[in-house]
Amino acid sequence: EELQNQRGLDRIRKRKDHGEWVEKKFPWSDKLEKVLRETFKFEKFRSKQLAAINATLSKKDVLLLMPTGGGKSLVYQLPALVNNKMTLVVSPLISLIEDQLMTLKKLGIEAATLNASSSKEEKKKVHDALGKGPSNLKLLYVTPEWVAKSKLFMTYLQKCFDKGGLDRIVIDEVHCCSTWGHDFRPEYNHLGFFKTMFSGVPILGLTATATMNIMVDIQNMLSLQEALIITAPFNRPNLFYKVINKPSDKHECINIIEDIMMKKYKDQSGIIYTSTIKECEDLNNLLRERGVSVQLYHAQLESEAKKKIQERWMNNKYQAIIATIAFGMGIDKPDVRFVIHYTIPKSMEGYYQESGRAGRDGNKSSCILLFALSDFLRNVSMASSKVEEKNTKDILGYCIEVKRCRRAVIAEHFEDTWRETDCSKMCDNCKSPKNIQCYNVAPALKDISAIIEAASQKETKLTLMKLISAWFQIGTKELRLSGMKVPPCTREQAEHIVAFLIYKEFLSIDKGYTMYTTIAYIQNGVIKPEDTISMPYGRELGYRKLTDLTEKSSADEGPPSKKLKV
Ligand code: ADP
Ligand code: MG
Ligand code: ZN
Repeated sequence: EELQNQRGLDRIRKRKDHGEWVEKKFPWSDKLEKVLRETFKFEKFRSKQLAAINATLSKKDVLLLMPTGGGKSLVYQLPALVNNKMTLVVSPLISLIEDQLMTLKKLGIEAATLNASSSKEEKKKVHDALGKGPSNLKLLYVTPEWVAKSKLFMTYLQKCFDKGGLDRIVIDEVHCCSTWGHDFRPEYNHLGFFKTMFSGVPILGLTATATMNIMVDIQNMLSLQEALIITAPFNRPNLFYKVINKPSDKHECINIIEDIMMKKYKDQSGIIYTSTIKECEDLNNLLRERGVSVQLYHAQLESEAKKKIQERWMNNKYQAIIATIAFGMGIDKPDVRFVIHYTIPKSMEGYYQESGRAGRDGNKSSCILLFALSDFLRNVSMASSKVEEKNTKDILGYCIEVKRCRRAVIAEHFEDTWRETDCSKMCDNCKSPKNIQCYNVAPALKDISAIIEAASQKETKLTLMKLISAWFQIGTKELRLSGMKVPPCTREQAEHIVAFLIYKEFLSIDKGYTMYTTIAYIQNGVIKPEDTISMPYGRELGYRKLTDLTEKSSADEGPPSKKLKV
């Protein structure tokens, strides 16, 4: 299995730029241009749209990776109008499907849906069309649940195929079939049978999530090993990326958000993401007390209420939505000027997608992440698998990066090609580069390890709070070590050092369970301490500066486990 995965990765990495799919003239080329202009009212294709369209019309299986807002829908809606056959689209959410149907109706394109809430009449109408084989129906949208559950539908689909009426199968948000992703949907795993059941019908998978592990998973789950992989650039040039150290005082936090909403982006639209419903409610109350126009949104609201809130926000009745990740998929508000993460997200994929909801209209927008180590630790403690744990750690690296371009970190995660000049000072680290020095934090690790070791002899485990207190010689007397010096830095800096050591795996996290909650304890890590541990930092720190420039900053490499293990 490992070998197979390695092959999968090699294949994906060898992908080319697909120029031939753009330059070559195909029998349908003239028609594409005409339909693009006359039906869709677009002037030209965007990067990679044409390549993917030509490939799928040539009956190739295609996996298209394109960022949110990149224009994936056109890549299957346009080909659906080329042949006199039907395209089946599997899409994860009924609300997404309804949006699409509305757009298509305006364009005069015949489309329909079948899902759990379709009426009897609608079902009959669609079944009749399927039974005919080729018909006027161009696009049929279904949920993955419908494919898995409705035998009757599958029978009609088979009929349509037998009569030569099935043109292609599109799987939108195709990353939902991977457990590596942040929105795994078990029903997506059933879709693998398409390939064998409808032999010769090309499959087109679309996603904005593109880490290599997920890609390999998609190929294996859906039998798409031979698929052509087309990747659009993931860089979103108009988004400004920024990480702010989150103050431990809640009101200072609110000050930051209030400033963004009332000054920098006064009267402009935004989204604030929190990680729990409780946090969502808290923040909503605190911001409202200050007269900021916000509304909360989370999974436990009634679906009617959710719809109303979303609509009112779309119409600028609220400046910002405060939401858990339940909010967002399929939302297409072009003028979102800021996306604030009040807590560190649980994965890079999640962060990329959620922050990517800003600036779809191409105008400058901000993606701001409020980072606190304690929030990260809570995420780790709540992670329910090794995969989830690894995902939470990946984004820690993004947060504690003081030197490199934030875009470079994102691009590296998605294995996207990258030139340093691509940022144009559109991230905090590029815009105001700090005077970065490397400090030797090995003595800090030595002290921390000694405190952890001593506590463990007393059968005590240390939370971040307890560890830092003991290190600063305050708090519980039994946990302090006599003769140990107070660290030569502030508390905030001490937390940064601990975060860095966790990211580098010199320290690790151990989970404890109580009746009501899980707790993260700081433990000694899997990597043995070294004499010199170089940590880049942008302010004066009381540890020894490493002036020897040949000593390479270890921050450039990430933790050992980041090197892909599949
Ligand atoms: P995705 O599914 O990749 O997130 P969508 O398909 O929803 O993106 O498209 C995002 C926006 O881009 C839509 O408003 C769409 O009308 C627009 N769009 C797509 N292709 C083009 C194009 N070739 N020219 C101009 N606008 C386009
Ligand atoms: Mg889409
Ligand atoms: Zn940058």
